[in-house]
Amino acid sequence: MTKEILNKSCCRGKIESSRKIEDNNLCPVCKTSGVKVKNITVRHLIVDTLTELVGDMDYYICMNEECDIVYYNPESGVKFNKQQVKVPIWFKKDANPKFACYCSKVTEEQIINAVIKDGAKTIKDIINITGAMKNAQCQKNNPLGKCCHKIIQEAIDKGLSMK
Ligand SMILES: [Zn+2]
Repeated sequence: MTKEILNKSCCRGKIESSRKIEDNNLCPVCKTSGVKVKNITVRHLIVDTLTELVGDMDYYICMNEECDIVYYNPESGVKFNKQQVKVPIWFKKDANPKFACYCSKVTEEQIINAVIKDGAKTIKDIINITGAMKNAQCQKNNPLGKCCHKIIQEAIDKGLSMK
């Protein structure tokens, strides 16, 4: 009897904490849901003439490759498109060059070449050959404000599958 009661209450806390649904994160143009990006990242990547517009709020980034919008804040209505960001957004259509590591300006193509021509297999190989991830400041340089190692791994996998 006692056992039964214990089982029933065991995961209540978990359900509560996973309930953080954000329904206010839709891109104002394409209506797909975005990913949160910190103010410091947006501030650093928006063209200098528009820095004042950035304010001190956090933003979302639109992950839809077809959409022209990069950063937006649903509450204030402030949004920035591809032309208003200093770097090409690697996952957007026509990004050129396609950076994998923004800090060291290493492109997806360079990583694929390192895999195919120089036999690189791991992130460590890539760091040695291309200089990627050296003096990493991803929070400022990567458009998502996150470490680029996941993108580098994806480029390695792409290169390996082309061999
Ligand atoms: Zn969009």
